[in-house]
Amino acid sequence: MKIPVSTPSLSEKDFEFVSNAVKSGWISGTKGKYIEQFETEFSNYCGVKYGVACSSGTAALHLAISVLDLQEGDEVIVPTFTNIATILAVIYSGGKPVLVDSDPEIWGMDHNKVKEKITDKTRVIFPVHIYGHPLEMDEIMKIAKSNNLLVIEDAAEGHGAEYKGRKVGGIGDIGCFSFYANKIITTGEGGMLVTNNKEFAKKAKMLCNLAFSDIARYRHDYLGFNYRMSNILAALGCSQLSKIESFIEHKKFIGNTYNSLLGDVLGIQTPIEKTWAKNVYWMYGIVLDEQFGMSRDELRKFLSEKGVETRDFFLPMHMQPALQNRGLFKGEKYPVSEKLSKGGLYLPSGLTLTKDEILYVVNCIKEASKIGKNKL
Ligand SMILES: *Cc1c(COP(=O)(O)O)cnc(C)c1O
Repeated sequence: MKIPVSTPSLSEKDFEFVSNAVKSGWISGTKGKYIEQFETEFSNYCGVKYGVACSSGTAALHLAISVLDLQEGDEVIVPTFTNIATILAVIYSGGKPVLVDSDPEIWGMDHNKVKEKITDKTRVIFPVHIYGHPLEMDEIMKIAKSNNLLVIEDAAEGHGAEYKGRKVGGIGDIGCFSFYANKIITTGEGGMLVTNNKEFAKKAKMLCNLAFSDIARYRHDYLGFNYRMSNILAALGCSQLSKIESFIEHKKFIGNTYNSLLGDVLGIQTPIEKTWAKNVYWMYGIVLDEQFGMSRDELRKFLSEKGVETRDFFLPMHMQPALQNRGLFKGEKYPVSEKLSKGGLYLPSGLTLTKDEILYVVNCIKEASKIGKNKL
């Protein structure tokens, strides 16, 4: 048995759409019908007016923050427990990342710890919906509003996840998505920024394409980027999007099945779904504590020998050498994130994962737990 941690779901329809794009001759990122179609359909899906397709989730995050014209030293509040792309976007744009610890249950940024980080230099709050569970967006929007801050959601892991019936990514001022191969829908590499703000959308679209201006083609009023998504990948995005409901249903099946089988194993914390949330279980994570009797690294090794591929949780941003070397986050401690990082791993969660495979993974974990307990 060999069970990968993630697999995309690709079908005949995807091959057809991609081949149509290639046959049309429009293969770049400036023309071709699929780019606009994907932008329209995906932003509609999120309940938002505008979408700007781009080359990656990281690019979407960078575009989003570039639209806001941060001044050197402006502060952006971000979770320490996230993909480094969130922080990179802040640093690329000259902003200063200010970290917040995780909520112990939903693992994303603890909104109760945001207020204490606000100074007169704060401009943006950057919530990240971790592993498919939404954050408490009403609370975050309230804090933003009363302090005159903008909110950029990093919804790379939350396609289709809902907060009180609203899709994440469509709640803040700007939402950012990734379509990397392991995300819920994929274009291999790709991303999108979504927003209801027409000016933001227009500026993001311009910056994404080297900031060519309306006034004269080769006049540039801003420093742009080439973050274009090609028409070929946008075609793949359209066909993938048409299947998103079944993908999410399968993710929920995976999450619920693991939850029901692992819920009673001592020493394992499983993901939850708050009453106000629709968790899409992008990746199914668990967190071990001492009662499990085996460390996270020992369990990962044990599972690997059984053919079960897993991944560590994120290493928090305040512990990243690349950021510490820039003098950031000296001496800062975020105990919840550190605990998640030490004990957390995610299990096979791919779109082609079967119930038998889930049962196999769970049996391996229970076997490990017995060995662990005997050693305690
Ligand atoms: C995947 C991911 C990104 C980066 O997306 P890429 O498409 O790989 O650039 C950013 N933020 C989060 C939370 C992610 O999971």
